Amino acid sequence: MDRADVLIVGSGHGGTQVAIALRQNGHTDSILMLTRERSLPYERPPLSKEYLAGEKSFERIRVRPESFWEERDIVIRTGTNVSAIDPFAKEAVLGDGSRMAYRKLVWAAGGEARRLSIPGADLEGIHTVRTIEDVDAIRSDIANGASRAVVIGGGYIGLEAAAVLRSLGCEVFVVESRNRLLSRVAGQDLSDFFLAEHRAQGVAFHLGAEVASIEEGSGGRVAAVTLADGTVLPCDFVVTGIGIVPSVGALIAAGAVGANGVDVDEFCRTSLDDIYAIGDCAAHVNSYANGAVIRLESVQNAHDMAATVARAICGTKTPYEALPWFWSNQYDLRLQTVGIAADFDTTVVRGDPAARKFSVVYLREGQVIALDCVNNTRDYAQGRKLVEAGVQIAPETLADADIPLKEML
Ligand code: NAP
Repeated sequence: MDRADVLIVGSGHGGTQVAIALRQNGHTDSILMLTRERSLPYERPPLSKEYLAGEKSFERIRVRPESFWEERDIVIRTGTNVSAIDPFAKEAVLGDGSRMAYRKLVWAAGGEARRLSIPGADLEGIHTVRTIEDVDAIRSDIANGASRAVVIGGGYIGLEAAAVLRSLGCEVFVVESRNRLLSRVAGQDLSDFFLAEHRAQGVAFHLGAEVASIEEGSGGRVAAVTLADGTVLPCDFVVTGIGIVPSVGALIAAGAVGANGVDVDEFCRTSLDDIYAIGDCAAHVNSYANGAVIRLESVQNAHDMAATVARAICGTKTPYEALPWFWSNQYDLRLQTVGIAADFDTTVVRGDPAARKFSVVYLREGQVIALDCVNNTRDYAQGRKLVEAGVQIAPETLADADIPLKEML
């Protein structure tokens, strides 16, 4: 049977960063990364941005060139599914039935794009945005003349895709089940701002809308999306961005504790011996989320958890307590978020949204807990320190955009 000292499942931002950080920390034994992906590791953020827009090639979104992995003796097996884990024998069972023994296992399998479960959901021309193949399929549809898109979901994926599709000349309808955009990640001010910006770019919205069915045209392809109120949106293709389902089935079946993802402690250890979990699928207590157990679906979280695990495997245990941050690009707008706006009770807008450069500061019991900064990198950089320090600042002071945030520390 094959054996790897460290077996990494998943080749996204978390999996690749564990391997890189292990070598940086002086780990010399074998590292094997197994991935269902058919390509060597690539970055995901450009998928809904520059890669979809055709502005970056696959070569430009690789995590590292192929030679990097070879030079560091990091073995990557693509097209490989891990179907089960035997935590007592310390073996992973692969899709072909073979087994791979490990000393340490790092589960970095992320999640799969959630799919619609309504009539017509299996038609041709309905796309998710999670892998390079997903985006290649959208680009292929557009290259073949598809130009009318319905985007289902008004989160980051849906809105970033909508922005790119508009720039490519497509007609775009966005359908969102909540009454506002970005409801999972931002407050009302930001939702209103992005709604107005997208509308100004020609995107049409159906908020608080339920998708009832997808209608078939010729050749088994999608022809329209029908909403529960009877509205019919004719289209050539559909892009769904309705969240992810964490990929933890094999771990949970092996006995790991978890409900929404898999539970990990401050060192990213699961309840199973010598098995860590990181990234989108790892449910952890996050001090920046008011101590709630959350999964953080972000590059920052994947990277910082990977660093925590690599250090732990190399003998240095430091708890995971990184400051969360995110970004999103839509049109010429760069949104940078720091902190988590969990349980906020007050928001303060700094600057003028009409000038397309402003920040929203979120407070809980007087304490600055998060900022959304639009085209405002200075506030983002300085606001990080306010969130880290957990300072209390009067809303009237925060609202004065002439006072730099660093002067409020
Ligand atoms: P998301 O952030 O969960 O947003 C999905 C939105 O779609 C939610 O508002 C959701 O409402 C809505 N929705 C769900 N089912 C629907 C339906 N049947 N019809 C209409 N609307 C529906 O997920 P996402 O935008 O797909 O993003 C997926 C992942 O990629 C996330 O991990 C995201 O953070 C990550 N991502 C991150 C970035 C970034 O950091 N900039 C950019 C792109 C993607 P409910 O809340 O009611 O379900």
